[in-house]
Amino acid sequence: MSRVTATHPACIALGANIGEPLRQIEAGFSALAALPRTRLLARSSLYRSAPVGYADQPDFINAVAMIETALDPHALLAALLAIERAQGRVRDFPNAPRTLDLDIVLYGDLVLHEPGLTIPHARMLERAFVMVPLAEIAPDARVPGQGRVSELAARLDAGGVAQLRRMPA
Ligand code: AMP
Repeated sequence: MSRVTATHPACIALGANIGEPLRQIEAGFSALAALPRTRLLARSSLYRSAPVGYADQPDFINAVAMIETALDPHALLAALLAIERAQGRVRDFPNAPRTLDLDIVLYGDLVLHEPGLTIPHARMLERAFVMVPLAEIAPDARVPGQGRVSELAARLDAGGVAQLRRMPA
């Protein structure tokens, strides 16, 4: 008898701005694809964005991945933090430069408010560097209680977020 495991679509935001950001984002996509009980369904283009919050730091490279996973949200968060650590991330202060940042943006239609985990991500709606790549790969996804991704993204000033041209194969 085959084992039936419930899977859930989830969207993960990736960001990096020190070290070799392009390489680290690529490593992040590879690490997501290699997670247990998880498939990488889609990846956005890479984007360059100006830092938000603490401005005296390099620009970020950002992207969003869509996965399908049988990991529950807490196991998924633990796995993302392990990937960040493996990429050499050191947490200095809020909005500090980072080698790789991975956030759970959406997890199906789940709404979760816990001290260490908020889904949908608490600041996603104000972050063009999340909403623009998300709208590229999941325009019809819905942010629970808020609306369609493409419409929510269109409300933001995306002036600081530039899509990078794909490298020739
Ligand atoms: P930061 O790396 O600055 O984005 O903060 C990461 C911390 O935010 C993690 O250790 C989590 O405990 C917490 N957190 C809360 N909600 C989320 C989420 N949706 N995705 C990732 N981290 C989250």
